[in-house]
Amino acid sequence: MTTLLTNAWVLTIDEAMAQYRKGWVRIDGATITAVGSATPPVISGAEVVDCNGDIVMPGMVNAHCHMGMSVFRGLAEDVDDRLYRYILPLERKFVTPEMVRIGSALAALELIEAGVTTVADMYYFETEVGRVAAQAGLRAIVGQTLADFGPPDHRDFDAGFARVEQLVGEFGGHTLVTPSIAPHAPYSTGRAVMARVAAWSDAHPDVPVQMHLAESTLEVTWARDTHGQTSVAVTRDAGLLKPNLICAHCLQLDDADITMMSEQQVCVATNPRSNGKAGRGIAPVEALRNAGLPVGIGSDGAMSGNTLDLFSQ
Ligand SMILES: [Zn+2]
Repeated sequence: MTTLLTNAWVLTIDEAMAQYRKGWVRIDGATITAVGSATPPVISGAEVVDCNGDIVMPGMVNAHCHMGMSVFRGLAEDVDDRLYRYILPLERKFVTPEMVRIGSALAALELIEAGVTTVADMYYFETEVGRVAAQAGLRAIVGQTLADFGPPDHRDFDAGFARVEQLVGEFGGHTLVTPSIAPHAPYSTGRAVMARVAAWSDAHPDVPVQMHLAESTLEVTWARDTHGQTSVAVTRDAGLLKPNLICAHCLQLDDADITMMSEQQVCVATNPRSNGKAGRGIAPVEALRNAGLPVGIGSDGAMSGNTLDLFSQ
């Protein structure tokens, strides 16, 4: 089956960032086989779609999301300490497999409508998220969260690791869904558990790791008071700074932190709307990029950033 998109403004996002104002795209089966400008080829039997000058571009990647939280959108606006006073109590009370399934399905619609075809998610009951993503045709990295603050789906870290194993068992080798392990943050897992995650990760190199890192002054204080270091240094000493780690937020960084992150070639997800809403500051994206680190844009959960739309970030 061949499909021809015509009369499209094609943004290739290739090395030269080439774009064709009057362009066309040929798709054979599930593969884009040709892109060009001006007069499109005549292909007998092809389905021709006139795009009326609309933009055709590669699907976008949402680098940090909590899809299930879509049902919490709009709750606890304009208050301090939202995480401990509102988000965590809400999650303990209401997060169930069914809630995650419904919230993630809503998020999948919102993501696809906004041009996102790949999402990096971390939340609870993450097998539900993986099933929703697969059904929606969305490419997803689904991270089972591990935390010590009484999360809704594991009473201790052993139970959390069991959920990770279950996730890997269900989605290992899946064409769209990549299982992931997601220690919530340094202050909510602790160095010993981060070291346990690092060792598990070394034994499972194909499983990406996701974590909130250097997000808040609370985390800075925790790292300094508990370990006399920055939270990035604590994470490095736990063995968790590595190329398959996606670090979300990364607001509270000094130059040495950026050097450490660069040496280990971690990935960064910046979440401008969520950071702005929480009043946490602006990530040093330019310095991170100058250090050679890949920086993707994430929406965070809809309760934190209010939208999953990447253009609005
Ligand atoms: Zn987050």
